[in-house]
Amino acid sequence: MTTFHLSGYPRIGAKRELKFAVEAFWKGAKSEAELRETAAEIRRLNWAAQKAAGADLVPVGDFSFYDHVLDTLCTLGALPKRFGFDASKLTLPEYFQLARGNATQFAMEMTKWFDTNYHYIVPEWHADTEFSVNAANLIAQIKEAKAQGCDIKPTLVGPLTLLWLGKKKEEFGCRVKTLLPKLLPAYAQLLRELAAAGADWIQIDEPILAADAPQPYLDAFPNVYKELAATGVRIIIGTYFATVAEHLNLLKSLPVHGVHIDCVRAPEQLAVFAEGWPQERVLSVGLIDGRNVWRANLSKVIDTLAPLNAKFGSNLWIAPSCSLLHSPQDLAVEEKLDAEIKSWMAFAAQKLVELGIVKRALEHGKDSVKAELAASDAAAADRATNKKIHNPAVQERVGSLKAGEDQRKSPFPVRIQAQQAWMKLPLLPTTTIGSFPQTTEIRQARAAFKKGELSAADYDAAMKKEIAYCVEVQEKLEIDVPVHGEAERNDMVEYFGEQLAGYCFTQFGWVQSYGSRCVKPPVIFGDVSRPEPMTVYWSSYAQSLTKRPMKGMLTGPVTMFKWSFVRDDVPLSTVAKQIALALNDEVLDLEKAGIKVIQIDEPAIREAMPLKKAQWDEYLAWACEAFRLSSTGAEDSTQIHTHMCYSEFNDILPAIASMDADVITIETSRSDMELLTAFGDFKYPNDIGPGVYDIHSPRVPAEVEVEHLLRKAMEVVPVERLWVNPDCGLKTRGWKETLEQLEVMMAVTKKLRGELDNKR
Ligand code: GLN
Ligand code: ZN
Repeated sequence: MTTFHLSGYPRIGAKRELKFAVEAFWKGAKSEAELRETAAEIRRLNWAAQKAAGADLVPVGDFSFYDHVLDTLCTLGALPKRFGFDASKLTLPEYFQLARGNATQFAMEMTKWFDTNYHYIVPEWHADTEFSVNAANLIAQIKEAKAQGCDIKPTLVGPLTLLWLGKKKEEFGCRVKTLLPKLLPAYAQLLRELAAAGADWIQIDEPILAADAPQPYLDAFPNVYKELAATGVRIIIGTYFATVAEHLNLLKSLPVHGVHIDCVRAPEQLAVFAEGWPQERVLSVGLIDGRNVWRANLSKVIDTLAPLNAKFGSNLWIAPSCSLLHSPQDLAVEEKLDAEIKSWMAFAAQKLVELGIVKRALEHGKDSVKAELAASDAAAADRATNKKIHNPAVQERVGSLKAGEDQRKSPFPVRIQAQQAWMKLPLLPTTTIGSFPQTTEIRQARAAFKKGELSAADYDAAMKKEIAYCVEVQEKLEIDVPVHGEAERNDMVEYFGEQLAGYCFTQFGWVQSYGSRCVKPPVIFGDVSRPEPMTVYWSSYAQSLTKRPMKGMLTGPVTMFKWSFVRDDVPLSTVAKQIALALNDEVLDLEKAGIKVIQIDEPAIREAMPLKKAQWDEYLAWACEAFRLSSTGAEDSTQIHTHMCYSEFNDILPAIASMDADVITIETSRSDMELLTAFGDFKYPNDIGPGVYDIHSPRVPAEVEVEHLLRKAMEVVPVERLWVNPDCGLKTRGWKETLEQLEVMMAVTKKLRGELDNKR
């Protein structure tokens, strides 16, 4: 028999029931009892779906009211002392305060879970952090699942991953030395309590094994797992998102009963484990993609597993590649999706069914699931040839790209002169990142137009009015390179996805981003091309209102795929190049329409990096090539900007320089220009605009603060190449503070310009 298990399932509800219940609770519109009832119902439905599909072990501990890393901290009693909460008596309102802050304490930080768009609460470790086990919640859920007739396998974030995921600065020494000795006994105690509650198996996720974990953490594995194995529970170590093949010997040396590997992200590790993993231990293979929306090719999956089935027998387990948390919940509720495209897709509920089929095939032969395999084969065959996906013209265009075609006509020093000749910008030119405040009025107009409640003419007028206001404001502020304000855009990826061939949209394809917040990424299902200009109309209108050079705004190829579900039948680099060429059409059309400053945003360039450093160069080479391709053929006098924010950039500066944008605007103010020092040390060759104030706050900075930052910038960047701008787009701000903030930015700029002029 083959064990079908999983480590987690979407918990927000097929129609975001948990989101609405949690938010109602926060507003006082729902009682705690009602919220708990919604939660219990979601768990019940999830387990029922898993059981119906044939799952042998269902996860416990994957449900969370906000975030499962925070839950783990609560279970281990490791709450930041600053809140003054007693973990053993933590109330639900207190739990939410940890995540969202309260009157006296700022919220715990959150950050992205590895390379996903899921945000976890970052543990706050201190030398005096104490641990104490509170397993009651988990035990109650074990009971619930068992009462439903399910066999269970609690899933926990592993102790080493938990320690490593804490805030990055280890100011009180390596946490493996300082905290692990306190954490480990608590963790062992937790395992004992879960075992006593009936957990036979426990999955302990250690994804740091897939992510270049630092050596002290790797060195700690043997002792940690020796202690945990001594509790007597059977442990399966969960890994995902990249290969852990290099840790085969380490994993083998641990006294654990099994390991799970992600063979969707890292198919190459399957052979290594098939060969090297001992057959008397469980090998769990993830061949069903836990974080994408595509149906699996089941015949291929079964054929891949057959030799493992022969070798490992009942020690071969099957599972999604990672927790299904990262996949939307149920394709069945989609009503408007194109029927053909829908036939190629699988959300979490459908992935369970796929695993059930694989299990039956492994146990009873392929003939036992003939009809199911025929359907899967047909979908795969259709996808391989369907005209909706395959556009020969696009493929030919990408395929025939010649070496050097991604390069601008002249090098930067030549281009910048051609640009300066017509732009005639002052020293310290000013600009913004693109969006201006998105008022309720604009949002309503956009929504009404989408629903057909607002005529095209009225919508056009509403947007033009907003754009005109935006231009007028910038004119008054004397911003040198104004923007149109992006009023017509709901989202910087969706806006373009809606106009590009090869993209489609779901109605309910939500995935949890953080807490009650969900995102519904667009889906790239086929070859991407641009049937019609996408931004020329609005940008031209904006340009007609001012003599200043209007900046056109586009979203770059990496960000376009990173914030979408991407097709899995061609390499990402191909998708990126297709998008780049579609954007290139837009760049050249903008240029023709007289828009000669164009920003191509790439805020996601860093987060799309592979987890393993060894793969960075390869990724950066094609990602930066795709960026350059999007402006290829532009005149020297056309100024290409890019923008990046909220990531670590210090270690990829050569790659950023290789993108060869004429100007980069980059978020820096929160770190007191630390990032800029790195740009200075690296001698970043082109123009650069560090953000001089934080756009996340309504607070208006004092002139001295902005001046401080700008002077710091002038120390590291030659003044001829320095721009002045906010950190990021202004769409989340209100108008009042935006005007005041920009006034401060302009006042400081003018003051420093005056000083510089006097010196000349
Ligand atoms: N142009 C976008 C804006 O201003 C950039 C947003 C981003 O960097 N995420 O809204
Ligand atoms: Zn930004």
